[in-house]
Amino acid sequence: MVRRVARSGNRVRFDSKDALLAGGVDVRALRYQRASQDRKEQGKSVGDQGKLNLAEVTKRSWSDAGSFTDNDRSASRHAKKDRPEFELLIERIEAGRGDVLVIWEMSRRERDLAVYVKIRDMCTKVGLYFWLVGGVLYDLRDKNDRMMLGFQAVQAEWMADSIRDNVLRGVAMAAEAGRPHGKVTYGYRRIYDQRTRALLRQEPDTELRTATAVDGTVIEYSHAGVVRDNFKRVAAGVPLITIERDLNARGIPSPEGKTWRRGIIRKQVMNPAYIGKRVFRGEVIGDGAWPALLDGEGVYWACVQLLSDPSRTTTRAGRAVHLLSYIAACGVCGGPLSSNHVNRHGWEGQVYSCLKRRCAAVKAEFLDEYVQRTVVAWLSLPETSEMLSALSGGDEQAAQARAEAVRLRVELEEWRKLGEQGEVSAVAYARAEKGLTAQIAEHEQRAQQAGMPPVLRGRIGEHAAQKWADLGDQVAVKREIIRTVADINLLPAGKGNRRPFGGHRLRWSWRF
Ligand SMILES: [Zn+2]
Repeated sequence: MVRRVARSGNRVRFDSKDALLAGGVDVRALRYQRASQDRKEQGKSVGDQGKLNLAEVTKRSWSDAGSFTDNDRSASRHAKKDRPEFELLIERIEAGRGDVLVIWEMSRRERDLAVYVKIRDMCTKVGLYFWLVGGVLYDLRDKNDRMMLGFQAVQAEWMADSIRDNVLRGVAMAAEAGRPHGKVTYGYRRIYDQRTRALLRQEPDTELRTATAVDGTVIEYSHAGVVRDNFKRVAAGVPLITIERDLNARGIPSPEGKTWRRGIIRKQVMNPAYIGKRVFRGEVIGDGAWPALLDGEGVYWACVQLLSDPSRTTTRAGRAVHLLSYIAACGVCGGPLSSNHVNRHGWEGQVYSCLKRRCAAVKAEFLDEYVQRTVVAWLSLPETSEMLSALSGGDEQAAQARAEAVRLRVELEEWRKLGEQGEVSAVAYARAEKGLTAQIAEHEQRAQQAGMPPVLRGRIGEHAAQKWADLGDQVAVKREIIRTVADINLLPAGKGNRRPFGGHRLRWSWRF
């Protein structure tokens, strides 16, 4: 039985841990995650903390009272930078928001002992009694819990002190934030001051080099040109193996000076450094101090989207992604369709069905065939070619909107993966999906004039059918084409309806 004592501001007072754990959606959780720049610190990245914290919240069906993230800021008492999100969190707590504070580890929240005590006392005073640290629930009113949290804070301070000692003794301080360091990213070069040897800038390496192709001809190329070319081709759906073969045939050495491998190209076209972003522990943490090598972010996100398509990256065996899973949606609830192997009533095979509520289902071969025929027919129409060729392609805002739409799709895909791994609940996934899908639609509408999407280039007009057939088992590219041109919703068959599958089972709209 859940018993509450009183309501203070927005805060519901739960009188025990049990009451809080049984509180479900009535419990408002505040989440906080922070990255540190200390290189020697062994901790989880902000993204990982965020996912773990979110998983804790959704697992308990708590509701979201806000998430606060401080990237790239050290919370130890030696840190000099301010921490805006942290301040926001404190304000929120003081204003009476939230019933529980969710953090992944103590050292991540506050490493200074005095600050820890201050926040603890403040939380106690305003009635935020519960902290969930690394999945363990503490009640600040419980003397044993207070002792355990105190231990963790003392330990965290000791670690912060040790790290600082090491850093001060060490050579390169994290002060060079934003400046390029380590190996030069292929496609860039660094310009140094002749006299002082200080780094002046990092810029695209357009120096012309020569290579001898397999057939003996000598060709000219530049590192920046190779990178741009790789992006363009991957975004257009050219298989990595083809790009690998072409580069090697032209005699162009790989970044390591050897032959190109698919993995190298893959890593290259997913590297945010080429859109001028700085990465720290696998997370984009801000703008780099170097220019983007690509014109706009569209081609970058198109590559990431194609290469992270679930048909390539399905995380759970036996749940392979097929041509239309997570692309076509349920016409009843709007949720995604997933692909399942079914064996019942003497029939066995693949079926697409509404992932969340099972509102509608269809034999996979029926839907696959119908959709492919319809899409190829549309791609073949002279009107389609005319319309797509007429798109301007020059409008920067439209191009940005498309890049943003694709970026959001990548984000949605990450959510789907988390859902599949059981790290977030179906409810959390559904919520994220709803929000992201709406945003994607909005950006796509603005992107209408952004020119022909890269993945359609060379695949429309009278040869569309042949080009489609040529794609063979490149499911990711076919999926991208379908997703780019059509919005497909599956409707239920209706009880006892024996009508064969056809257009009446779909709500179909073209995106152009
Ligand atoms: Zn449904």
